[in-house]
Amino acid sequence: MPKFALSGAVRSIEPSPTFEIEAKVKEMQKNGAKVFNLNLGEPDFFTSDNVKSAALIAIVENKTRYTQVKGMPKLLEAVCEKFKSDNGLVYTPKEVIVSNGAKQILYLAIRTVCEVGDEVIVLAPYWVSYPEITKLAGGKPVIVKTDDFRFSAEAIRKAITRKTKAIVINSPNNPTSIVWTKDELEELGKLVMKYRILVISDEIYERFLFDGAKHFSFAAMAPKLKNYTITVNGVSKTYAMTGFRVGYAGGPAYIIEKMADLQSHVSSSICSISQEAAVEALSGGKELVNKMVREFDERRKLVCDDLRNLGVEFIKPEGAYYVFFKVEPHFDSMHFCEILLQDFKVALNPGESFGTPGWVRLSYTVNRDDLKEAMYRIGMMFRRG
Ligand code: PMP
Ligand code: GLU
Repeated sequence: MPKFALSGAVRSIEPSPTFEIEAKVKEMQKNGAKVFNLNLGEPDFFTSDNVKSAALIAIVENKTRYTQVKGMPKLLEAVCEKFKSDNGLVYTPKEVIVSNGAKQILYLAIRTVCEVGDEVIVLAPYWVSYPEITKLAGGKPVIVKTDDFRFSAEAIRKAITRKTKAIVINSPNNPTSIVWTKDELEELGKLVMKYRILVISDEIYERFLFDGAKHFSFAAMAPKLKNYTITVNGVSKTYAMTGFRVGYAGGPAYIIEKMADLQSHVSSSICSISQEAAVEALSGGKELVNKMVREFDERRKLVCDDLRNLGVEFIKPEGAYYVFFKVEPHFDSMHFCEILLQDFKVALNPGESFGTPGWVRLSYTVNRDDLKEAMYRIGMMFRRG
């Protein structure tokens, strides 16, 4: 059997650790184990009936063909309307695109702007795919870390070189659940305008906010910032539609146009049925997400109370639906997650996945009874030492 050499680009990447652990959990479940799955960041709520109906009607009405590569005009209009009403951002349909999830949007964006050797600043703890997408695009991820996981413009400025092309920010953040303040975003805005750096602002958790935290869109922080920003979002989280695979972005027309050219060769249009469902989601009510936020807030308090009682250090979660806690010096984070899964049947994600060993991410996207049991088992793990 011949064995062909693989490209340097694919050899440089690791598989998505979130999906790797998920595959392990699914295998254990298939073999009959009851696993408390706090690994994947996926809402455990069902998609709303109006959205499901829109998808069904699309099939019945034979809306089953390719659409425009950038997205159906009515979906692009709905995305523009969403950016205007929710984020105070005025984009025209030429300045927006839809893709197969925010993940593919991020790939298109970074692949479009990154020249081989360009540097992309990624702030740790980072969401798993930012560095790997950068490497696939031929770029070099430059990882910036701070002690408290917040980022002043000064901390970021130190990482800027002549090769810096872009910076990825994510607020509310996965995995820390930190929400950037208006002041922090404004400071970053001044910095990127001074050094002419593109900001890829991943705002997929914008609706998941707690304790009065407020979300601000980076591009709306100053009138000229729209020229420096690609605003990334999607329906996966807000509308519990992870399987539909619809993400979208707003940005300068000349970048969006090339992202569409790239998409025309990667996936053509995205699924026509999902697009019909996304139109309904974006223009329909917000009852589901409001309900999710109320429930997640209860779970968040439950997890934080238990960690506090155990004396475990954690980052105060202000948004998203994760709690990021510290297991070192008592445990190695990889080992902690392996043993917890093997002996206690609780799946978490080690900080290594997010460029931050010593910490662990917990996704509280399971019902409260299961969450209580999982927290009890995590407590046993700590007590066992
Ligand atoms: N960005 C962040 C920060 C995420 O956590 C995720 C996880 N789904 C995504 C982007 C991608 O979302 P999707 O592709 O489902 O739209
Ligand atoms: N964003 C989710 C997570 O961080 C889903 C997994 C993924 O997209 O990698 O768990």
